[in-house]
Amino acid sequence: MKTARISPGTLQLTRFGAVNAFLVREDDGFTLIDAMVKGSEKGLAAAAADAGAPINRIVITHAHSDHYGSLVALAKLQPEAELIASTRDARLMNGDKTPEPGEPEGKLRVPFPDLGVSFDRLVDEGDRIASLEVVATPGHSPGQIALLDTRDSGLVVADAYSSLGGLATTAGPYWKFPLPGFVTWHRPSALESAKKLRALDPAWLAVGHGKPIADPASQMDKAIARSS
Ligand SMILES: [Zn+2]
Repeated sequence: MKTARISPGTLQLTRFGAVNAFLVREDDGFTLIDAMVKGSEKGLAAAAADAGAPINRIVITHAHSDHYGSLVALAKLQPEAELIASTRDARLMNGDKTPEPGEPEGKLRVPFPDLGVSFDRLVDEGDRIASLEVVATPGHSPGQIALLDTRDSGLVVADAYSSLGGLATTAGPYWKFPLPGFVTWHRPSALESAKKLRALDPAWLAVGHGKPIADPASQMDKAIARSS
């Protein structure tokens, strides 16, 4: 597990050079954003211990296995942690693939097994998780969320963008790193969400796959233009 400080309050954890999770410091401990692939639970717990605080909350950004893979095992290691996900994608993580009334007709391109997780809190647009504000960013998955750090306007966007091979939206496969775009549920919504995140004018951008980017506005503009 590689650990890098990307802002005063945020550590980026990386496995295999490609899969990220984040430890966000709060007064009472850490909020962990995403739980990586299966088999990462010990590394995630150790990273928090090394950084000197407990994991008090685990937020899953979306229902893809490279983001929730170690959730169940980590929750067993850290039973006191509050488990949080979006209302929409929590259903997918419990194996419920029925669409939401009125949502666009997307394609579920990956398996959605029932993880048997009982989330402690379901969140939606505008909700707060300590210092983080929830930003609904449907498209890559039906209920993906981004998390805006209200202390410094940093933004963790999961797979609304990726930065492996350069910053790209996931509104379609980017030839340098096509996987996130391939599994996107509904491409027009993914593009709208990428624009919504750009409009927040983040001070820095952190993604599920790839390096964080400081002052990302111009790179986000280019990524959006390439996807439009
Ligand atoms: Zn994903």
